[in-house]
Amino acid sequence: MDYQPDKDRYKKINYRRCGNSGIKLPVLSLGLWHNFGAADDYENCRSILHAAFDNGITHFDLANNYGPPPGAAEIKFGKIFQQDFRSFRDELIISSKAGYQMWDGPYGDWGSKKYLFSSLDQSLKRMGLDYVDIFYHHRPDPETPLEETMSALDLVVRQGKALYIGISNYKPAEAKKAIDLLHQLGTPCLLIQPRYNMFDRWIEDGLLDVIGKEKIGCITFSSLAQGLLTNKYLNGIPADSRAGRHLKNGAITESQITEDKVKKVKELNKVAAGRNQSLAQMALAWVLKDERITSIILGASKPTQIADSIKGAGNIHFSKEELDKIDSILQQ
Ligand code: NDP
Repeated sequence: MDYQPDKDRYKKINYRRCGNSGIKLPVLSLGLWHNFGAADDYENCRSILHAAFDNGITHFDLANNYGPPPGAAEIKFGKIFQQDFRSFRDELIISSKAGYQMWDGPYGDWGSKKYLFSSLDQSLKRMGLDYVDIFYHHRPDPETPLEETMSALDLVVRQGKALYIGISNYKPAEAKKAIDLLHQLGTPCLLIQPRYNMFDRWIEDGLLDVIGKEKIGCITFSSLAQGLLTNKYLNGIPADSRAGRHLKNGAITESQITEDKVKKVKELNKVAAGRNQSLAQMALAWVLKDERITSIILGASKPTQIADSIKGAGNIHFSKEELDKIDSILQQ
């Protein structure tokens, strides 16, 4: 059956301006790192994308290597896009990235102009798109001059293959240098994509200052710590959870669900209950309380997780007592 998106979708979520750019992003976006591999059920993937768009999520985040195998998420997304979203292209912000190992030989990894240029062409073919809205350098390359990497990003924008540029996993000093280079080239950096959650607060140590000062956007990933900051691991490891499925490619493992982490999660869950939120909702609200965060890229294995998570974006106000309590739990 033809997909008809919810007519009220734009009333369901807030949009924040991405730095001082012309683009607004929904406070929650959807990422396709996991659950969109070749073996994942097509209809479930479709339902997740429908649930996102029906709730006003206009931004889908991909990368060349998402799968498994690498490239599979872009192929699956491309198929669903052609089936259901083609006529909504102008309502969507679609991103891809290059920076991790993608193909054999010296030109399939890191940050050379040769790699970034070829990889974006491959991504566009896999998704069946003429352009992506955002193209990212996925991780800094210690060997390629930053000037070369940034001029490759500038080039793809000038060619119309990407509208905006982002950088991911850059530390504060290298992010500032990349932002300056892009500025000089005339293609400003739209946004930075770092990991940020209650257990991993490294961006509070410099990166958020760069983002605020330079007035660029920030879109965070793994803000639920891959599911650990939800109620699913409170009483063991469910077989259908990300940890329980024994995935590879950086997925959370059983050994990372430690006794200490579960103890903290249980305490945090009590604070969330006091706010009439689930832990997942509070974990997302906690990230969004900082106005410098434009959006959170959510992962989802089921469509119902999208609507559930969106409720978290409704109450992002925390009292000083709640914040102190959360900090004291995390510091235990
Ligand atoms: P999350 O921390 O949001 O984890 C997603 C997982 O949390 C889901 O698969 C699901 O786990 C669980 N979950 C989500 N919502 C709920 C809910 N409401 N209730 C209970 N459980 C829930 O993010 P990811 O680590 O998946 O990252 C999100 C996106 O960020 C990626 O898809 C990618 O686009 C981007 N990313 C970018 C990186 C980079 O280097 N730039 C690196 C990593 C991610 P379960 O499967 O167990 O049901």
